[in-house]
Amino acid sequence: MVFSLNKKSFPVENKTDNHSDFDRAHLWHPYTSTHDPLPTYKVREAHGCVLTLADGTQLVDGMSSWWCVIHGYNHPELNKALIEQAGRMSHVMFGGLTHEPAIELGKLLLSILPDRMQHIFYADSGSVAVEVAMKMAVQAQNDPKRTNFATIRTGYHGDTWNAMSVCDPVTGMHGVFGGALPVRYFAPSPEVRFGQEWKPEDFEPMRRLIEDHKDELAGVILEPVVQGAGGMRFYHPQYLRELRSICDRYGILLIFDEIATGFGRTGKMFACEHAGVQPDIMTIGKSITGGYMTFSAVAATERVADMISSGDAGVMMHGPTFMANPLACAVALRSTQLLLQQDWQGRVLHIEALMKELLSPAREMKGVRDVRVLGGIGVIEMEREVDLGAFQRRCVEEGVWIRPFGHNAYIMPPYLAVSDAQVEKLANALIKLVAEQIAR
Ligand SMILES: *Cc1c(COP(=O)(O)O)cnc(C)c1O
Repeated sequence: MVFSLNKKSFPVENKTDNHSDFDRAHLWHPYTSTHDPLPTYKVREAHGCVLTLADGTQLVDGMSSWWCVIHGYNHPELNKALIEQAGRMSHVMFGGLTHEPAIELGKLLLSILPDRMQHIFYADSGSVAVEVAMKMAVQAQNDPKRTNFATIRTGYHGDTWNAMSVCDPVTGMHGVFGGALPVRYFAPSPEVRFGQEWKPEDFEPMRRLIEDHKDELAGVILEPVVQGAGGMRFYHPQYLRELRSICDRYGILLIFDEIATGFGRTGKMFACEHAGVQPDIMTIGKSITGGYMTFSAVAATERVADMISSGDAGVMMHGPTFMANPLACAVALRSTQLLLQQDWQGRVLHIEALMKELLSPAREMKGVRDVRVLGGIGVIEMEREVDLGAFQRRCVEEGVWIRPFGHNAYIMPPYLAVSDAQVEKLANALIKLVAEQIAR
């Protein structure tokens, strides 16, 4: 049999065209069809909080590239950390070997994580961290009957199988993958919002769910205080205190997914600090490298590590090829040092106050269901779902980059780089574009 390589040639594209025919015809983007993909915009470079498109158009970045770019793009210190590490070694396996970037990053992470966190597992992406956290819980229980999980609706935990299984069953991907997904237990989303008065009945559905299934549950997993991509909802921290106490009562492990909320985004270093509650297992990712590359970590308590190590397997059963990649560790170390060297909390709270003021006029708009701001996150929830293609086109015309999802249009700029004028530009554009969406 003769094989022939598919040696297609493609026309050279115009470098200053914001759109690419090749991209449109051959590259998959997140959650897109190949039949009629929405337009994508070609970014030539990015500095600070500004993305420059191929034709020179400049956009103020309101997305932090999905929560992760906290110091801004092209940061000289992060570039330097990356280049210096590449000059020593870009990668070396973590099986049987270790290295300084992994060790120094581990020390620094343990110094800022909740103090019960004592062991760190480095993983490759947020979704993988969630898989590892869930595997840890099952291994720690070491009981063939206790292998399931409970969570709350409107959550988002990533796109791999187990991560998908605990995403919101309606807006998540359950409809598509149905029978292929493990079946989890879902409590309703917490109703009492952050800043409102706590109502004990808000926790009752979760209490009942846990009591009904306590003998099957290895753990409960959820995003503390801020639910990100699944609904951009901010809920009352008391919910987490109630959850901690019932998990303790029944020996269920509590997993906090802080992949979106970690490293200051909500005004605390980690969102669980709003509740003063510590998990048994915690996932961090996204902004861990300041948005330079994919990387994540799972932290666990001494007790969880002991349970795993004295279980039947006796070892934690996971070990990715690129575990503790030195480039990622070196950038994460520098990014976290940079964060700690400045008044990050003052910055985030300043941006929070600014966004509260700038977005408040939207509360009066017809067609707006809710306006909410917490830390470096400002959300306008609309009654109707957004027309994404039209919204993106108008964003580019207005010189901003904002990517709404469903009913929510939101800004979450790189909080350690964004200027007041840039926040103002983003907030004003957000209100204007939401008004246009509502009027359409
Ligand atoms: C983004 C996200 C994930 C998944 O992370 P990836 O790096 O995209 O795999 C998991 N949990 C939360 C809370 C997230 O925001």
